[in-house]
Amino acid sequence: MPTISVTLCAEVPELAEGPGALSWSMVEAWAVAMREEVPAAALAVSLEQVQDQLIDRVCGPRWLPVRGLPAPFGCPGCGVMQDFARKGKRTRARRVDTSVGVVRLQLANVGCRDCGRVFAPLLLMLDLTGRRRTDRLAVDLAELASQMSFARAGAVAHSFGVPASPGRAHQAVADIAPRLASVGRVELGGPSRAAVVVLDGTGVRAGRRRLGVNTNIALGLSARSGPRRRRRAQTALLGLTVDQPWSAMATQLAALETPTMVVVDGELAVTRVAELTWPDVPIQRCWWHLARALRWALYADKAPHRWSRDKRGELTELLRSTAREHLTHAQALARYDAFVDSVRAEDHHAALELLTGARDQVFTCLQPGIRHDLRRLGGPELGSGLLERVMRELNARTDIGGSRWSVDGLRDLITIQLTRMTHHPAWTTLRQSTHPPNPIDFKINHLKFNAG
Ligand SMILES: [Zn+2]
Repeated sequence: MPTISVTLCAEVPELAEGPGALSWSMVEAWAVAMREEVPAAALAVSLEQVQDQLIDRVCGPRWLPVRGLPAPFGCPGCGVMQDFARKGKRTRARRVDTSVGVVRLQLANVGCRDCGRVFAPLLLMLDLTGRRRTDRLAVDLAELASQMSFARAGAVAHSFGVPASPGRAHQAVADIAPRLASVGRVELGGPSRAAVVVLDGTGVRAGRRRLGVNTNIALGLSARSGPRRRRRAQTALLGLTVDQPWSAMATQLAALETPTMVVVDGELAVTRVAELTWPDVPIQRCWWHLARALRWALYADKAPHRWSRDKRGELTELLRSTAREHLTHAQALARYDAFVDSVRAEDHHAALELLTGARDQVFTCLQPGIRHDLRRLGGPELGSGLLERVMRELNARTDIGGSRWSVDGLRDLITIQLTRMTHHPAWTTLRQSTHPPNPIDFKINHLKFNAG
């Protein structure tokens, strides 16, 4: 294996007293400047050495060209794999934006003696033809942009010496999202099964309509192996649609294996798609959504503000306590009915309708058979807890700046955010391909010319 060597030279001030002398903050600033410049520069110099070795091998020494030597590449013109001649260096450096900064390569050309085509073999062999930016950089920027605003993502990456800007972060999301094609597509390798399927719809300010567009999400929960006491649920992204009715999600759901239970957010269309897809699977109302919807219903009923807030808290606590205290289904319903009576006593119609409408589905997870089947997942409330966490993160990202998303832009962003959060196979595979472990051994030489 050929060896490449790169030398670093620096003019370091002397250790002395007074202004201009070497200080710790000075060397640290120097190190930060090196972090920003050395990796890309070292890479360019190393690749140029690799390039020189390749051309020596293929064309013979500079002062003594050899005819008919075999090459490890084919001529892009005629496909021939031998007999190339040196054609000098290109005058302008080739810029490639990478995760470690801007790499500027001085490319060497060769000419095919068969067809006369002139090209740079290094670009050909590293598969860099036509590329201005590496996939790894795009994935890094998209990953950042799915966790913070485009402006911040650009600034954060830039502060680490990465060629980045808000526009580039935005572009990275648009470039990477279409490569996560197996989202909601079992036939393309998306997750195909989950013990619990959680369906949720949320409105996001996007597109031209005043109320924004619907973002519909199907999440799955499965048991994760691990120590018995700390066994927790694993989340999977099973389906995602933006600006489409729930019926569009039905196709994505129909490809899944039948789950043990479905958690719905309470919207009629969501319940309908669950019933249509899996007529025999029991339906659970999401506790988090129910408590939230109660607050809205009481608002519509013009109930006193403070009282409404307390009632929401009371319902949340009631639902959680049924799980914590291991109540039976009948005991939990009795507690729920007592709560409903307290709302009925105040004559709040919308709230009453909500609570009585949810009654049949509010404690499905406490049915003995389902409780048994799902015990490995943790508590019965975890479907709701998971959804709450995911939706909070999603809303936090999409609400930034109060700006309006394009439908495509929103879909791209949510796709990346959710695949990353749930370790979707599409995201994991893409990331592994762009972030492989480093196979190249290197050591830093400590040359001590004046030693002794
Ligand atoms: Zn050729």
